[in-house]
Amino acid sequence: MIDRLINFLEQSPVNFLAVKTITTQLEEAGFKRLDPTLPMNGVKAGDKVYVTKNDSAVFAFHLGEEKLSEGGFHIICAHSDSPTFRIKPNAEMLRGGMLSLNTELYGGAIMSTWFDRPLSLAGRVILRTNDVMTPESRLLHIRRPLLIIPNLAIHFNRQVNDGVKLSKQKDMLPLMAIGTGEIATGKVLLNVIATELNVKVEDIIDFDLYLYDTTPGCRVGLHNEFISAGRLDDLSMAHAALEALLMGASEKPKRTRIMAIFDNEETGSQTKQGAGSPFLMNLIQRLVMAQGDDMDGFHRAVEQAFMVSADNAHAWHPNYTDKYDPTNHPVLGGGPVIKFNAAQKYASDAVSSAVFESVCKAAGVPCQKFVNHSDVAGGSTLGNILASSLPMRGVDMGNGVLSMHSVRELASCADHEYCIKAFRKFYEL
Ligand SMILES: [Zn+2]
Repeated sequence: MIDRLINFLEQSPVNFLAVKTITTQLEEAGFKRLDPTLPMNGVKAGDKVYVTKNDSAVFAFHLGEEKLSEGGFHIICAHSDSPTFRIKPNAEMLRGGMLSLNTELYGGAIMSTWFDRPLSLAGRVILRTNDVMTPESRLLHIRRPLLIIPNLAIHFNRQVNDGVKLSKQKDMLPLMAIGTGEIATGKVLLNVIATELNVKVEDIIDFDLYLYDTTPGCRVGLHNEFISAGRLDDLSMAHAALEALLMGASEKPKRTRIMAIFDNEETGSQTKQGAGSPFLMNLIQRLVMAQGDDMDGFHRAVEQAFMVSADNAHAWHPNYTDKYDPTNHPVLGGGPVIKFNAAQKYASDAVSSAVFESVCKAAGVPCQKFVNHSDVAGGSTLGNILASSLPMRGVDMGNGVLSMHSVRELASCADHEYCIKAFRKFYEL
């Protein structure tokens, strides 16, 4: 299963590719794409369908024998995006015969972890068509190392090990080439894209391209107990949800199962494809109506629903014990983590936590709890944002990781297996 996760991560260097990886697996398991511009009537019990938004969010539904209004639904959500750097328009910068690309930070990356790594580009490229309103979108995944952000030598900054303040604009620009004749054109990047996609430079109108680390994930540790890889937050949770959904793909579930992979969690979720969007709420309403019910049926569905908002948690770090709550510090390998926050940044409450703990127990999986050290401000996640449009019972949870938001994060292999088992049980209930 860990090999499957490592492969999943390798196919998914950025949000758009992650959604492609997920939809490919959904289709292999018999899920059919629904076009949201068309009426949704015709869906029936047992149907397996999915919808994408902006090519960067995906919502899969395995419809139950009971209508949504009768049995509600069990939903697992996670996010497709991870901290990275976005390529700016007019990105080429020729300085001293060296070509760099101008970038912009996406999300809360630990920027220093991006130095001295073979990087490349992935995302989507927008191509001209005859229809101005509907250009063509093509995915781009350049697999060979193409860029690198070199560190400054210690000889120019003897204080480097005492902490360095980094500028996003000055320090983080990746190097792409040593200048030769072609570089003066300002079309080097476009030429790379055109060659990769086998299209004409003139047909490239725009792109959403991001940096990613080309080094594949791997197992680490005396007993191979760790997984070290980029984008574990939150693609490991997306992968666990997908595996759990697909394991039951040949079943006829009693209750509807939903998997929602949102985009833009790392920048606050307030986009049309993020958890702050009414898109999922609208989809569920449309499905309820396609099943012959009205808005009251939709509200009955929400009242009976249960959400597992799956986003990674902070595992205990033995070098920084003072950062953790004295009595609640989940450890790697100890199983899925339920997250609590008195200020309600997390959706978990005693009832939803009790439910999820019981799900883990029924799956034979250990379960842990996380609360922030009271003097440390924590992060936020999907659960509460989604609950503002779909006010359902739910829990915020995730597997523990170390080095969260580093270009390469660390998690436990056992936890990943545990999480899939817990999600599988949750969908079965
Ligand atoms: Zn996350």
